[in-house]
Amino acid sequence: MDHGSEPTEAPAQQQGAKSSPGQVLFAAPAQPAGTYKLDLKLGFRCNNKCVFCVQGDKRDHVSDLTTEEAIERLRNGRERCDGLLLTGGEISIREDVPEIIAAAKALGYTTIQVQTNGRRLAYRSYAQALVDAGATEFNPSLHGHVAALHDGLVGAKGAFVQCVAGIKNVVDLGQRVLTQTVITRQNVMYLPQIARLLVSLKVHQVQFAFVHALGTAAETWDETVPRYRDVQKYLPLALDLVKAARIQTITEAVPFCFLRGREWAAIEPRLPDTTVYDGDIEIGDYDRYRNEAGKAHGPPCHACSWSAVCEGPWKEYPERYGWEEFVPRSDPPPNW
Ligand code: SF4
Repeated sequence: MDHGSEPTEAPAQQQGAKSSPGQVLFAAPAQPAGTYKLDLKLGFRCNNKCVFCVQGDKRDHVSDLTTEEAIERLRNGRERCDGLLLTGGEISIREDVPEIIAAAKALGYTTIQVQTNGRRLAYRSYAQALVDAGATEFNPSLHGHVAALHDGLVGAKGAFVQCVAGIKNVVDLGQRVLTQTVITRQNVMYLPQIARLLVSLKVHQVQFAFVHALGTAAETWDETVPRYRDVQKYLPLALDLVKAARIQTITEAVPFCFLRGREWAAIEPRLPDTTVYDGDIEIGDYDRYRNEAGKAHGPPCHACSWSAVCEGPWKEYPERYGWEEFVPRSDPPPNW
């Protein structure tokens, strides 16, 4: 279910059975307590089979955390983290999520966000159970405006109807709902229609994230990874539609040379400091990891006035498509 925060390689020790906190990559610098957000991946099993899944290759060889292991990581992470994102895989296929959320609440996490494909939220009693346990935000993923598109992308018939019903349930329960749409070759031309649907569902934030071509997405590259020049054709209208409805809208992994006039949407300058527990790897400072191991700058960036504030694309994109589409900017960036 997670489409973004992802180590580029799985170290050998990740390929085993049970996990205990192991290798630390990009250790977090000393920070005052509570300044970080914890991104806890409970496992990689999923009831969808998304063509763009960044970690689809892990589902068969990385074991889920046990309930006790998950709570142990919550305890460890609490030393420097106030906020929590629970993600997978798809966490709603486990039965212990209310218990894990309740443990997080008892440990004092101030925001507890549930990232999900949204399907199980269609069952009102399940959505209510997560809210009762202490969830404060929901992060469902909708990748199409109609069933044929969404179900095709996530590889599960009926997923669209369930996800839409799930979004309605959590909105109706008064929860903060922050949606995720992965931009792919299949849905790029429908981004405005997807935006209209999400506005009609009265969600609180809409995120459009450019596909990260790892895992399954690397295998399905030709059908799945669009060109930024096509994103540039359809994304601005989608952003404008959401903004006009006074709903927050953000982008991820869309460099500023493709966001001219919509720079306000880029999330990267505003991302919280985050620690990721991914299998038995801890990425202490995900910001540093993302910039030093995930993203890339290329020749156009060297002549670009925005390079200091721009992370560039995920590195796999220019490795395959080159840098020709990237046109350096000469206007001054804002003083963020
Ligand atoms: S730094 Fe590179 S990727 Fe970023 S806006 Fe400039 S040219 Fe584009």
